[in-house]
Amino acid sequence: MSLTTASSAAYLVAGLLFVLSLAGLSKHETAKAGNTYGMAGMALALIATVALAADDLEAAAIIAIVAAMAVGAALGIWRARQVEMTGMPELIALLHSFVGLAAVLVGWNGYLSVEGAPAGEAEELGLAVEIHSAEVSIGVFIGAVTFTGSIVAFLKLSARIKSNPLVLPGKNWLNLGALALFVVLTVVFVVEPSLPVLAVLTALALALGWHLVASIGGGDMPVVVSMLNSYSGWAAAAAGFLLDNDLLIITGALVGSSGAYLSYIMCKAMNRSFISVIAGGFGNEGAAAVGGGEDGEHTEITAADVAELLIDARSVVITPGYGMAVAHAQGPVADLTRQLADRGVDVRFGIHPVAGRLPGHMNVLLAEAKVPYDVVLEMDEVNDDLAATDVVLVIGANDTVNPSAADPGSPIAGMPVLRVWEAGTVIVFKRSMNTGYAGVQNPLFFRENTRMLFGDARERVEDILKAL
Ligand code: NDP
Repeated sequence: MSLTTASSAAYLVAGLLFVLSLAGLSKHETAKAGNTYGMAGMALALIATVALAADDLEAAAIIAIVAAMAVGAALGIWRARQVEMTGMPELIALLHSFVGLAAVLVGWNGYLSVEGAPAGEAEELGLAVEIHSAEVSIGVFIGAVTFTGSIVAFLKLSARIKSNPLVLPGKNWLNLGALALFVVLTVVFVVEPSLPVLAVLTALALALGWHLVASIGGGDMPVVVSMLNSYSGWAAAAAGFLLDNDLLIITGALVGSSGAYLSYIMCKAMNRSFISVIAGGFGNEGAAAVGGGEDGEHTEITAADVAELLIDARSVVITPGYGMAVAHAQGPVADLTRQLADRGVDVRFGIHPVAGRLPGHMNVLLAEAKVPYDVVLEMDEVNDDLAATDVVLVIGANDTVNPSAADPGSPIAGMPVLRVWEAGTVIVFKRSMNTGYAGVQNPLFFRENTRMLFGDARERVEDILKAL
């Protein structure tokens, strides 16, 4: 069997492993197996690609590739070991930016080695050079939008810049104008490829990516993260066309389409228009984030009093949010669940689709703490039961339990939330009266049946456990 046939077979197997990986990642129970399939597929793909390339390359080039892989792997292992669960979203955004940057570099390399080369391959390619130029233009465009969009997402998610939406005058026209200009530049580039046109096209795409994500408000960031995931897939597929690598095209298309589907699910869950979000908040003129200070009277409670309430309760629902992740409270929360269940209390979890900072964030934490899957319910499964629930424990959640989502003037207007205020008593675990990620004040804290339990969520849950 020739090396080319062997590597094509390896690519096919790797492609199948990626499909199995996506299928596995769609359910809690199979997520670990999904990851293993993905890792096996990627290892196979890397070996096959390097082996195939090694056939044509000189020893020095092979050494450079292996050295680059070793450095990349070392950096990857270091970051993966260091990263906190709460830092995952920004790390993912940063990794998406690398895919975008790689697609831009592959595009530029494609231009410099074909159209821009003095006595180049352009003549050899003949008519196909026009297709090549279109591939360069599209690949660079998608890559550059992904690159700067992901950098802004990284800065917003890591709180290095504010999550409020940037509202430039005529922002939708700016985006539409940039798209129209891209089409014009692509036509010009295909007819007469030149460095200045490619440079202008790259700068335009970099600015568009920045503006698209900067225009989106904090509450809509989950959709942006999955959307950038999708863009990074399409950027990889575009690079695959330029490099003539089938596996990269397949993998990019898998990532691109699964990311697009995830964005669609997130949009549905948050009652947002998919088109509006991918168009940088089109049709939403960016209601500014409000609040931050006190707004009414709140009532505090002690951990001992919460323990008493829980002992007397028949049904308890726990709605965790980002604060549970920050406090690493999932272990004590799982202990609390077990203790209450042993006392005959019906305890369940209500998980909002965008709770935390990445899709499935709460589910991962609760699975890690060995909370049984059958008591972990989705928002829609638990919302109608909340009115008949004695006590709701809101542990480090804020935007996802904010009744102001029903107010049309609110930046989170229309977003479905957990209607925790319908329960008998609501206990809110947080450290201060600060707002959540979307920067919107939460009237829940001032309701008559709400009690605030201030402090670090982990410490407060441990106090309740002691009191029990
Ligand atoms: P929020 O970010 O709205 O609120 C988190 C709350 O946790 C804050 O009110 C904070 O209050 C509290 N908190 C922080 N640290 C601690 C601690 N150590 N102990 C106790 N409380 C703590 O969380 P939600 O999960 O309700 O909402 C998620 C938000 O993030 C939504 O706006 C969503 O759109 C957005 N988002 C979600 C993504 C996803 O994919 N899931 C991705 C990107 C954004 P205080 O500071 O007073 O303690």
